[in-house]
Amino acid sequence: MQNNLPPLTASTLYLVATPIGNLEDITLRALRVLKECDVVAAEDTRRTGQLLQHFEIRKPLLSYFQFNEAKRSEEIIERLRQGQKVALVTDAGTPGISDPGERVVAAAVKAGLRVESIPGPCALVAALTASGLATDEFHFIGFLPHKSGQRKKALERLRETPGTSVLYESPYRVGKLMQELVEIMPDRQVVMARELTKKFEEYLRGTPAELLAITEKRSLKGEFVVMIAAADEKTAKLRVEEESEEQE
Ligand code: SAM
Repeated sequence: MQNNLPPLTASTLYLVATPIGNLEDITLRALRVLKECDVVAAEDTRRTGQLLQHFEIRKPLLSYFQFNEAKRSEEIIERLRQGQKVALVTDAGTPGISDPGERVVAAAVKAGLRVESIPGPCALVAALTASGLATDEFHFIGFLPHKSGQRKKALERLRETPGTSVLYESPYRVGKLMQELVEIMPDRQVVMARELTKKFEEYLRGTPAELLAITEKRSLKGEFVVMIAAADEKTAKLRVEEESEEQE
């Protein structure tokens, strides 16, 4: 463990992971980088402004989101060339994981600039490690396409993919996803991790049909990570854990 940490390095892009629901999950290093950087590039400046305010950090903010990534990447690269230390954060979790970040990181690497990851919360890792499914080999595909035909094709490809498959899904489509899995992978064990790190965190485990029945019975809100066991998953059949109805 290092106690006397050196100051931040000039001309460095810091990718700072932020909480996915529980503010206690911010790391000491994330706070230090946010305090010591020159500027924070944020997916949503209002939301990040609130996070910084909570931790009593005042910093200039620059917006960096999906639709201005190209233009803002150039600006960030220019700032880095001038010696600035830029922290990149998204609304929640780790930048670049189903979130903006990839483009500016690629541009910085191409320009020979330093990029450092400040690791921390990531829904993918939190969900997978507590799922009870195999973690030695997994395949993360983020969000499925919205169009039915494209979703079906993506799921058919996953059926042939070794290891645990991990997806992000919105509460509006999680029932649809279970229906699709009933058709495409009916015998697999599936785990739905909901509202990780928050008050109503829960893991729902079962076959697609069992989980579909739960989604039909309860109106499940919040954020989800869905994990599908590998075809040859050896673990004992996972139990479906019905949680009591909750008021949100
Ligand atoms: N960059 C983030 C990360 O590191 O996990 C992911 C951002 S992506 C835009 C948002 C999706 O991540 C949500 O729709 C959900 O699928 C998943 N997610 C984020 N926070 C979550 C949480 N607290 N519980 C379950 N899933 C979560």
